[in-house]
Amino acid sequence: MPSAIRTIRDLSFEGRRVFVRVDFNVPIKDGRVEDATRIEATLPTLRQLLEGGGRLVLASHLGRPKGKPDPRYSLEPVGAALAELLPCEVFFTDDCLSEAAAKIVNELRDGQVALLENLRFNPGEEANDETFARSLAKLADVYVNDAFGAAHRAHASVGALPRLFKERGIGLLMEKELETLDRLRNNAPRPFVAVLGGAKVSDKIGVLEALIERVDALLIGGAMSNTFLAARGVELGKSKIESEKLALARSVMQRAEQRGVKLMLPSDLVVAQSLDAERGDVVAASQVPADAMALDIGPATIEAYRRVILPARALFWNGPMGVFEQPAFARGTLGVAHAGADCAGFTVVGGGDSLAAVNQAGLGDRYDHVSTGGGASLEYLEGRTLPGIEAVRS
Ligand code: ADP
Ligand code: MG
Repeated sequence: MPSAIRTIRDLSFEGRRVFVRVDFNVPIKDGRVEDATRIEATLPTLRQLLEGGGRLVLASHLGRPKGKPDPRYSLEPVGAALAELLPCEVFFTDDCLSEAAAKIVNELRDGQVALLENLRFNPGEEANDETFARSLAKLADVYVNDAFGAAHRAHASVGALPRLFKERGIGLLMEKELETLDRLRNNAPRPFVAVLGGAKVSDKIGVLEALIERVDALLIGGAMSNTFLAARGVELGKSKIESEKLALARSVMQRAEQRGVKLMLPSDLVVAQSLDAERGDVVAASQVPADAMALDIGPATIEAYRRVILPARALFWNGPMGVFEQPAFARGTLGVAHAGADCAGFTVVGGGDSLAAVNQAGLGDRYDHVSTGGGASLEYLEGRTLPGIEAVRS
């Protein structure tokens, strides 16, 4: 039996420096935060810690700066966005290990906030380096992890660091993520329907194999469904297919049949000559021209998937149904997004691009949970233990 995980309700913060690992890995454009969803998602935790009299030391990664400072990946714009959302000033520090950073942190008063510069400007972060973790530990008295999106990576701020604190726990966002996914992992109400799509089968093998054992229906779209259709012998022209994953797709389909899981593939597709085409043509899945590629699911498929999604009592969706970045190939993804929003069951979306699609359509509020963790939510749903969760247990 794994030991318990404390939440911020079980810890006290008055007058103490609190290291809060957040996931502020947000898109930045022209020095501004383009989408603040992940910052907003941590506000309940930050507000509660501030009301409890904590002195907050916030830390995150942003992008992949490869272990050295790179202004393109600075968290400074995040500090500006955060200052607008919180009722207090936000002090921004340069390098998280600098003397200046330590000074700012040590001079914080109760209810004040410091944001450290990108953890990944230091090679110790991704290397889960003990010495780097020890330096970070000097900046705080209590540790809180609210970065669900980073929980699946054994990096210093979520791996080595929490073990150096006697008092450690998780924030409200992390708690909600775990509760939601636990419900789908252990006793999802039935029928339990999963919709999987996106770029690659190979990114999602684990979750495919885990879900096929638990769901009542599995609806597949996106480039993922090309590989499944090809595994059934369908010719798909120039479509994106992972030929080394055909056997895996076959074994998933076989397992679905053994378990009586309704596994659905597109019956029609939207095809075009190239990814940047202005418009596509709808064809039967068996009729993709040799010089065309499948870029979205077609209207008959959207309707068929919608009919299965609406009566679901639990729904998990990950991965767009097509190249939704292009309006000509976004209908399938929007169709599924609306069907999920209209479903009365317990509805959950996970995955960076799926989440972007749901938010773009303004449907985020109509889901029970929109997971901020892409890879982390998939690994957790698979039943794997996540390093960032193990390290924070008491
Ligand atoms: P998520 O981030 O939600 O887990 P993925 O990263 O797996 O989703 O997949 C999203 C990407 O898959 C998008 O960039 C989208 O353009 C691409 N994609 C979806 N369907 C197709 C397709 N039929 N052909 C090529 N790319 C596709
Ligand atoms: Mg993605």
